[in-house]
Amino acid sequence: MPGPGYASFGDEERRNIAEVLDAWQNTVGVHSQPVAQDSQCRRLEREAASRLASPHCLTVNSGTSALLTAFAALGIGPGDEVIVPGYMYVACLSAVAYSGATPVLAEIDESLTLDPADVLARITPRTRAIMPVHMLGASCDMDALTRIAREHDLLLIEDAAQACGGTYRGRPLGGIGEAGAFSLNVFKVVTGGDGGLLLTRDAGTFQRAYSFHHHGWFPYARETGPGDVLLGLNLRMGEFGAAVARAQLARLDDVLARTRALKRELTAAIGTRDGVAERVLHDAEGDCATVAVYVFDDREAAEEVASGLGSKTLLHSPKHHYGGLPELRALADPDHPSCPFRPVEPPARGHTYRPGALPRTDDVLSRSLALTVGLTDTYLGADFGVDVFSRPHDIAAAAEKFRATRDAVLG
Ligand SMILES: *Cc1c(COP(=O)(O)O)cnc(C)c1O
Repeated sequence: MPGPGYASFGDEERRNIAEVLDAWQNTVGVHSQPVAQDSQCRRLEREAASRLASPHCLTVNSGTSALLTAFAALGIGPGDEVIVPGYMYVACLSAVAYSGATPVLAEIDESLTLDPADVLARITPRTRAIMPVHMLGASCDMDALTRIAREHDLLLIEDAAQACGGTYRGRPLGGIGEAGAFSLNVFKVVTGGDGGLLLTRDAGTFQRAYSFHHHGWFPYARETGPGDVLLGLNLRMGEFGAAVARAQLARLDDVLARTRALKRELTAAIGTRDGVAERVLHDAEGDCATVAVYVFDDREAAEEVASGLGSKTLLHSPKHHYGGLPELRALADPDHPSCPFRPVEPPARGHTYRPGALPRTDDVLSRSLALTVGLTDTYLGADFGVDVFSRPHDIAAAAEKFRATRDAVLG
């Protein structure tokens, strides 16, 4: 089972899809539906802006498109560096690269998110932006990153793809920086099948983002002026995806209440002991609780427990750990067959994309094990645990199996 929203769909999703078909039947010959104010996309934008407490929201066809659109709207491109954590999703790096900018990898810490001290060390005169990635549903250290961004005049582009509905000190994730990207693919907290959202507080950024995602159009020009016409693409969300996503967004609070209750029950039953600790959270209350991560003191112990449970440590998260991304070689090598339109400029500080470049990231991921709490995703290393349908005896059984495996290894 993918994400907790996917597992929880019901009549509202079906009803909204039927509404799209009914609307099509009733408006034969009218082709303005994708931009109409009562379209599912426009309604989802208003509802998501309200739920996620941001003045502007744009629907796009994926989380990757949301990132790409954010870079275009914020004018990030060739010659610019963007600092990205070494534990993320490959889309974080490819979106930077396809905008023409240079991704600069930075270490994570025991929170599994960007280490602010390492971000500081990677800033060069070419740095334009920092990309906090709220991995596995929980926030980065946004106070520290906001301070660094302000002091060095950098943009903060949050990747909240895995953390829809999560908060940091009461503020919804994705709405804290200059832009926030969400994914609505089936592995995320809530889903539209596929799709993405882009939040921004700035009207000009929203106008340019809209323009970029829809071939330079801007339907609000009459009210707010035309703004900049960008050479755009078609990155629009479809009406069916938006219809499903609207129903999912309406159940976001229920989905989070369920994952949070599940996680409380599971971690309480597991208990604490020496040799292993729960992942450090910068705001435990705001955690989406889609997984429960345990960080062992010792790498061998983590690996043994993982294999005893039929799972893997987070070091083996394909497409999420920079060290497991052979395609990164293409970034720096113009002769590589999958090099994008041109090689990106090498980072000013001479960092590389090679495995081993981030030893602390490798270390903490090699000691981390994620238990599923409503999100099952092999690529995130989450194979063992509980899901939204688990009953108290299932939760007790999963906790007992984890405890027994852990204690057999740790002694
Ligand atoms: C899923 C994900 C994305 C990309 O979202 P898509 O909708 O699959 O394009 C980007 N960043 C992170 C951290 C993700 O987990």
